[in-house]
Amino acid sequence: MSAAVSLVAKSVCAGCGAGGAMLCPRCQATLLPAPPLPSVEGSSSAVAVWQYAGAARTLVLDLKLSGRRAAAAPMAAALARSILRVGTSAEVVTWVPGRRRDTSARGYNHAELLGRAVAEALGLDARALLRRRGHRPDQAGLSGAERRRNIEGAFGARLSGGAILLVDDLVTTGATASACTMALRRAGAKRVEVAAVCCA
Ligand SMILES: [Zn+2]
Repeated sequence: MSAAVSLVAKSVCAGCGAGGAMLCPRCQATLLPAPPLPSVEGSSSAVAVWQYAGAARTLVLDLKLSGRRAAAAPMAAALARSILRVGTSAEVVTWVPGRRRDTSARGYNHAELLGRAVAEALGLDARALLRRRGHRPDQAGLSGAERRRNIEGAFGARLSGGAILLVDDLVTTGATASACTMALRRAGAKRVEVAAVCCA
């Protein structure tokens, strides 16, 4: 498994830090199934694992804001299981590219860590196919319509056909996932499957 997943050998709960398991029983008890995903334009399927609450929210925030790479392991494992349950015809896994400032401050793009771990679990290629074009304000704090306007055309993609699995940590309105999916489709993707750890 990937470097992120190998940290599991330390056997510390990624949700609360208690010793013994990748995700302790108390944290697991706070995990709720994801609500139905918002529509993601251009996607052929979309799956999410957990509601954005409890230990799931802690994991997302730890990975995104606190630099705790180990949080990626239980998220990627659960996401891979969900993807296998619904089935996939993807050949390549990619991810939502990070904003340059965030990625350099943290030292990694959290969605890339997840995407690479999911690709490894599924035995698929992992490739950085998307890039951000220009600077856009953070999506947080914007309404659904504002998010869509803000993020439209914000991504470019390079690829030549194929079926792509797009991985992200959190889907809220679906605006970012839609913009990435449409960029992949414009670049020639035959189909795009969307997979997120959490849905708010
Ligand atoms: Zn725990």
